[in-house]
Amino acid sequence: MKDNCQREITYLRLSVTDLCNLRCRYCMPAEGVAKKLHSDICSVEELVEIAAAAADCGITRVRLTGGEPLVRRGILDICRGIAALPGVREVDMTTNGILLPELAGPLREAGVERLNVSLDTLRPDRYARLTRLGRLEDALAGLRAAEEAGFTGTKVNVVLMAGFNDDEIEDFVALTERYPLEVRFIELMPMGQADAGAYLPGDTVLARCPALAPAEPSGVARRWRLPGGRGLVGLIEPMSHRFCGGCDRIRVTADGRLKPCLHSNQEIPLRDLRGEELRQAIRAGIAAKPARHRMAEEGRSRTERNMNEIGG
Ligand code: SAM
Ligand code: SF4
Repeated sequence: MKDNCQREITYLRLSVTDLCNLRCRYCMPAEGVAKKLHSDICSVEELVEIAAAAADCGITRVRLTGGEPLVRRGILDICRGIAALPGVREVDMTTNGILLPELAGPLREAGVERLNVSLDTLRPDRYARLTRLGRLEDALAGLRAAEEAGFTGTKVNVVLMAGFNDDEIEDFVALTERYPLEVRFIELMPMGQADAGAYLPGDTVLARCPALAPAEPSGVARRWRLPGGRGLVGLIEPMSHRFCGGCDRIRVTADGRLKPCLHSNQEIPLRDLRGEELRQAIRAGIAAKPARHRMAEEGRSRTERNMNEIGG
């Protein structure tokens, strides 16, 4: 279905939990988040029902996110249920990778097609400091497990942060020489816990790595490749190259609220709706998508939620 700006909306980002086994400084408060009542979070059946209704409204690709989707009880049932829906061509997941050694194989069997693994630094001390709870070796073991389980087209998400990982840009780009990975540098967005002062434009990557040659873009990502490299380098630039004109997505939070735009406070409650009522609410959410966000003018996202509640 097209929104009011004639954008075809085919992509749903579905958050399955706001809980996480890490506490990345730009995403979650140090103390974590209060565990919601079981009844405040969509059940496995409700999540599948929302995805089914979204598919009836033209969604063909679903990305499961969080919080950390792999800590959600019933995650394999959610994947299986959504992958089996008529109209859903692809189910993907964004994860910190920590639990992939146990779950990569079962995820593939449950129908997950591709993974994005978040990894903002290749240095163990920095990883521990940024995530407050994590060990780099566990995230790297997760990436290896994804490959061993047969996942292809895996992407590594790197949020660019001045004074934290900008001296690792070349190291991340070098990974694409040896491995068939897409390293995606993401501009830090000024929302929730994020320190807007650490923002770096995506173009920094191009200035640091002049050998990169243009490759075909994919969705909202501009892409490059090292000559002879096995992988790709992508830039996701919501701040400097605002890509709202190509936005093809809606988001649903784990408590069942549709967000027409990541950066607006508007939310449409979907819980307790069934059948045609649910489809109508989703169509209303698609129609309510604003033409663009206003972070550049306003210096801050308008959403009051932290990223762990929305899913990126
Ligand atoms: N826990 C999973 C993970 O980390 O991949 C999925 C959820 S996480 C909220 C999804 C993505 O959002 C991650 O790649 C994370 O780095 C990114 N993210 C979180 N806060 C951000 C911010 N303020 N600006 C840009 N990206 C952000
Ligand atoms: Fe957890 Fe992902 Fe947020 Fe890090 S970015 S705290 S891994 S939800």
